[in-house]
Formats: sequence, C-alpha cells, structure tokens
Amino acid sequence: MRHQYAASASRIAHQVRVSLLGPPGSGKGTQAELLARRFALPHVDTGALLRAEVAAGGPLGQVLARYIPEGLLAPDELVIQVILRRLRQPDARAGFILDGFPRSLPQAERLDAALQAAGRPLAAVILLRVSEQVLWRRLLHRVVCDHCGSVFNELSKPPRPGQICPRCQTPIELVGGQPKCRHCPEPIRRRADDRPEAIAQRLRVYQRETIPAVEHYQVLGILHEVDGEGPEDMVFRRILDVLSQVPAS
Ligand code: AMP
Repeated sequence: MRHQYAASASRIAHQVRVSLLGPPGSGKGTQAELLARRFALPHVDTGALLRAEVAAGGPLGQVLARYIPEGLLAPDELVIQVILRRLRQPDARAGFILDGFPRSLPQAERLDAALQAAGRPLAAVILLRVSEQVLWRRLLHRVVCDHCGSVFNELSKPPRPGQICPRCQTPIELVGGQPKCRHCPEPIRRRADDRPEAIAQRLRVYQRETIPAVEHYQVLGILHEVDGEGPEDMVFRRILDVLSQVPAS
C-alpha cells in the first residue's frame, strides 16, 4: 500500500499547485500539512498568516483583529495581498498547498488571474466534505498552539505531556496546568473563534461567501470532492488518489 502511494506521489510531485477548500473543521489544515510534507512544498495557511499579522500588532493586524475573532472573513483586498506576496516567495515556485484561500469568488478570480499570468494555474482544488455534526464536534474540542500551528483535539487527539509536538518538534510540557510546546511562547488552547457563536458565524460565512468559489472551480472542471471524515491518514490517501488522476499541467 505504502509503495503504491509513494509511486503516485512521485508521479504528481511536479504539478502540485493545489488549494484545499471546505468548511471550518473539515481538516484543511491537517491535510495541507500532510501534503506539504509529502511533496516538500510550502503549506500556505491563510488563517495562520493572518493571525500572525494580528499578533504582530501592526496596522494590517489591527484591521484584521476586527474580523477574525468574530468569525467574519477579512476584507478580500487585504487577504489577496498577503497571499499573493506569499506565493511570490522562492519556496513556492515549485508548487504550494493553499489552505483556506480562496474563500470568496473575488479571491478566486484574483488568484486565478495572478497564477495564469505567471503561467502556473491551480492544478486542482480539493473540497473536503464533512457533516455538520462532525464539524461541530471537531471545532468545540479543538485546541491549538498558535505559535507553531499544531492542532489537537481534547477528545480524540489530546496534547500529552512528554509527546513531541508534530510541528515544532519540541516536547509538550504542562505549564501552570496547561499543555505547551517547550519552545513556543503560548500554551496550547482554544482559538478565540472556536466559540459556539463564532463557529455558527463561520459556517454561515462559508455557505454565503465560499460556496460561490467552490462552484467557480466546479465550472472550471478542477474541483474534486473528497470525503473528509474518518482517520487523517485515510483522508490523506483519498486526496493522494485524486491528485494522482489529475492531468499533468
Ligand atoms: P482558519 O484558520 O482557516 O479557520 O481561518 C481563521 C479566520 O481567518 C477566518 O475565520 C477568517 O476570519 C480569516 N481568514 C482565513 N482565510 C481567509 C480568507 N481567505 N479570506 C478572508 N478571511 C480569511
């Protein structure tokens, strides 16, 4: 099995310009991270890039801080700038795994135009399908390290003292009763927007703003729906299967 996927991975490695779409809690971040590691490509985590701007406290961060904790999309123009700047970095030349972008039709159109102009259009858009019941269960129990981006779940994947954090590779310790990666400055805890009201808002925003982007990629013929339920490695294999069928670009 392993062998078969290693083979498909090498066959598609040259064309991995992929975006992962799906509602909050559908596993975009986890799967993007696995893909990025498999293909040695950057994981462009939009939410993390925006939260880093907020933490830096500059003028852009101050604007973003009005939207993110409320579960609202940040203004298209700002996010487009942040992402296009990131995609121009040298490490993204060989490909990239976009996580959480585009999340609206204007963002999709701007992304397509920029990539088309650079002669490297998106090869595939993966839509992760997860039932609403599972989304709520994942989000209400999700805890994260905001610094290294590691994601855990209090029920199904709790951060355990002594465990090595899969992202920053430092041991997890208990500090003041809270788990924390040794080299990260903040504890592993709930995200500000994983409150029930903000989750409900994000799900509404997904339907209203992101579904039009999903439909756009369906019309372009590059949208692939993947069942996002079940163990992480099973979902990952489904994604690799889909990518191995994508025609070379
Ligand atoms: P995520 O980490 O992907 O769940 O994103 C967290 C939050 O960051 C979202 O609820 C939005 O407030 C903001 N955000 C992430 N991606 C985008 C995007 N493409 N456009 C606008 N806002 C975004």
